[in-house]
Amino acid sequence: MRMYDLIIKKRDGGALSADEINFFVRGVTDGTIPDEQTSAFLMAVYFKGMTSEETAALTLAMAESGETVDLSEIKLVKADKHSTGGVGDKTTLIVAPIVAACGVAVAKMSGRGLGHTGGTLDKLESIPGFRVGLSRSEFINVVKKTGLCITGQSGNLAPADKKLYALRDVTGTVDSVPLIAASVMSKKLAAGADCILLDVKTGSGAFMKTVGDSVRLAEEMVSIGTKAGRETAALVTEMDVPLGFAIGNSLEIIESIETLRGSGPNDLRELCVTLAAHMLRQAGKGSLGECKSIAEAAIESGAALNKFIEVIKAQDGDVFFTEDFSKLPRARYAYALRSPRGGYISKMNSERWGAASVVLGAGRNKKEDAVDHGAGILLKKKPGDFVEENEIIAELFTNDDKRFAEAEAAALGALTITESRSEASPLVHAYVDKNGVEYF
Ligand code: URA
Repeated sequence: MRMYDLIIKKRDGGALSADEINFFVRGVTDGTIPDEQTSAFLMAVYFKGMTSEETAALTLAMAESGETVDLSEIKLVKADKHSTGGVGDKTTLIVAPIVAACGVAVAKMSGRGLGHTGGTLDKLESIPGFRVGLSRSEFINVVKKTGLCITGQSGNLAPADKKLYALRDVTGTVDSVPLIAASVMSKKLAAGADCILLDVKTGSGAFMKTVGDSVRLAEEMVSIGTKAGRETAALVTEMDVPLGFAIGNSLEIIESIETLRGSGPNDLRELCVTLAAHMLRQAGKGSLGECKSIAEAAIESGAALNKFIEVIKAQDGDVFFTEDFSKLPRARYAYALRSPRGGYISKMNSERWGAASVVLGAGRNKKEDAVDHGAGILLKKKPGDFVEENEIIAELFTNDDKRFAEAEAAALGALTITESRSEASPLVHAYVDKNGVEYF
């Protein structure tokens, strides 16, 4: 078999066999296929797409390209969640403790920020002492002890994805449904959970900008997970607007603790309860309505917050900050961003708010950049709110005050202010499982 022939076949719109896809993934993993051929193949997939059979074969080959996690020592049902990435998306920090507090294990391997989107590991690293680089045995032991662990991808998990993702990042081939589906699901299958809930973001701050494309991605991923024998479902959720009020690492940790305490922004709490309820239902804890009540009760009783505190201790974090948020990294400089005119906020392009938070230091421009854990944005207004001219819309935080002007320009460019109030978008647009799509 020659890689050249596979590139031509895909370029001309043909469908590859499982053997051909296995040949490609083996060659990418062991380095025998050069980057230029891999890149050409990725571009051919970007333009010609893949059938569901090809996408499933690509995912399985990528999942099997390295180690897989054996969670059989953990006797509880194991649930996993994955967000395709957003701005202010701190749902894992709230949903995972809720689910674990309700008796379902969450063995979660999370990632770092990517572009304008934040990453769970960067947020957790704002907690003094918290370790995200646990060994495989430490990871399993923390889950056995507490029912929850959130760590980085340890070992050689889906190495084909690492290589393909790095090439996609520099060849303009990230936003392709089969390539995203295979990338996400190869890691989820290798991570070993029984149930997988996918939070597919849609809107300006998401990789998929329209509900139609997001549903297509959700369907592809659900079909792959189901074929692999995992209980898989997806929610397509709003990312045209940042989630909650906090964008940036320690600011998002504070908002997560507040939400686990029963306060916190309404949109964030509602989405977290919905995600947790779906995970609990997948794990057999009852109907969706019953699972919503169980999830709400875990917040009201303090069980979810206690679970988070237990996990922070188990991963060597200092829990003192939960009583005194000034123990978390804080930025030296603050700037009040004021509205240029009066009216209703009708849009808040979340990609640009995410980009503004990166300018302030909360994210990276290059993979090797350090993150400023205290930097970020606290929104004071969201779409639907009225603002007076000169009223504060957001507070910006950074340790480098030269960055305010660029961040302010990015944030103000992301704002649409109108005379009349427009309808807020729903938080959840669609639910997808093996039986089909339900729109809301
Ligand atoms: N997240 C991933 O893990 N892979 C993608 O391709 C996109 C988002």
